[in-house]
Amino acid sequence: GENWMQIAFAAQSENEGFARTAVAAFVSCLDPTIDELADIKTAVSEAVTNCIIHGYNLKGGTIWLEASLSGRTLYVAVTDEGRGIRDIKQALEPLFTTRPDLERSGMGFSFMEAFMDVVEVESSPGKGTRVVMKK
Ligand code: ATP
Ligand code: MG
Repeated sequence: GENWMQIAFAAQSENEGFARTAVAAFVSCLDPTIDELADIKTAVSEAVTNCIIHGYNLKGGTIWLEASLSGRTLYVAVTDEGRGIRDIKQALEPLFTTRPDLERSGMGFSFMEAFMDVVEVESSPGKGTRVVMKK
């Protein structure tokens, strides 16, 4: 059957590396190229960083990371139960950031879209955000 994994971890910056390495290890059975791996790791890092900074406002919380393989297609979901996004269309625009004070450049979603084939964002203000990516 199809392979999958699910991990929950603390929304702390130390865990960004853990999350991207976990997904890289999960896909290693497909013998991905160095470039494919780099793309996946960058996209996962960006999504996890967003949960830590924006979702939980650097105050901590829980992040759920799920990955599954359907043939050679990878699905990754990154979910938080943080503040949520009011205007998803605006959040996806290149250079849009609500935290210029933290020197964010507003490019995270653009990188996810560039490095993965499909990026879908579901969010409810006050409830949380779920980003699902496919490659
Ligand atoms: P960068 O990723 O370049 O450091 P950024 O994080 O602001 O800057 P994006 O990752 O593109 O840029 O995100 C755009 C905006 O979407 C953020 O500024 C924030 O307002 C909102 N956002 C993204 N992810 C979340 C999340 N998990 N919870 C709440 N808001 C989010
Ligand atoms: Mg970001």
